[in-house]
Amino acid sequence: MTAKIIDGKGIAADLRGKVADAVHRLARDRGIVPGLAVVLVGNNPASESYVASKMKMTVGSGMRSFDHRLPKETSEAELLGLIARLNADPSVHGILVQLPLPAQIDPHKIIAAVDPAKDVDGFSPVNAGRLCAGLPALAPCTPVGCILLAKTVQPSLAGLEAVVIGRSNIVGKPLAQLLLAENATVTVAHSKTRELAAVCRRADLLFAAVGRPEMVRRDWVKPGATVIDVGVNRVTPAGGRSRIVGDVAFAEVAEVAGAISPVPGGVGPMTIACLLANTVRAACALAGLREPAFGQPPAEDRE
Ligand code: NDP
Repeated sequence: MTAKIIDGKGIAADLRGKVADAVHRLARDRGIVPGLAVVLVGNNPASESYVASKMKMTVGSGMRSFDHRLPKETSEAELLGLIARLNADPSVHGILVQLPLPAQIDPHKIIAAVDPAKDVDGFSPVNAGRLCAGLPALAPCTPVGCILLAKTVQPSLAGLEAVVIGRSNIVGKPLAQLLLAENATVTVAHSKTRELAAVCRRADLLFAAVGRPEMVRRDWVKPGATVIDVGVNRVTPAGGRSRIVGDVAFAEVAEVAGAISPVPGGVGPMTIACLLANTVRAACALAGLREPAFGQPPAEDRE
């Protein structure tokens, strides 16, 4: 069997097109231009590059992008002060604080300080709780992107066995909640899981969010399963050029899976597209308007 390759780039471009249409309608009909504030503390090169792509795509979809760069010595109090100003600024509808933060700043305090209505990363305890409770929430972008990719292969996930490897607050746990909301049967695996390969082999839907290059091998995958690879790992073969690989051994797993998302070109582009979608949803909700669904049904409409 040769798996269908899930074209995250194309699916993300399609979603960004829908976001741009919604932004155009909001500006034309309501005079609202959604604005996303991105806060970067310090100069981590990977963070700089993520922030640059986020800002470019924000402007490209017709929204306003507000760039806040702070030196790496910034104190927690200074950052909390900026968050308070952004919370109060009516031209800002979404606030994103790029992680990781320097050691002197407690990320939990910062995430909790972002107004949940503007928390387009979906990391605040309020949005995490609402997601768990099955209430409408701004859900984290990478997990939403994973669900949208899986649904291009299987439009209904109801009743499917889903295995998520990884239980972080930003990927694994919210992904498990979103899968439950889609009526999948969900197992969350982690570093203490016994017989991980056997657990994975049960999955109709396998999500790998670990951060270990090519950990998931061919014999971990049930024939015909849909495999979504969240991992982003830079590897440098001896004497070779460095490249990015996922958590899944792509070439060998593609021989057995029914569908597989590549790295790069799978989940990564979806994350930014879902961030833009969340910013439009936040702008609509803050103005008391009905939120566009962007392919994800609101919680109360789910089966
Ligand atoms: P974390 O490091 O926060 O979490 C990793 C998870 O993997 C933990 O739950 C850990 O278990 C589990 N794990 C580690 N080793 C093993 C193992 N040997 N067997 C089973 N489980 C294991 O990572 P993130 O969730 O933040 O990110 C995961 C990956 O996804 C990374 O490669 C990251 O770069 C990528 N990523 C990609 C994004 C994108 O847009 N494409 C966005 C966000 C992340 P335990 O809890 O027991 O320690």
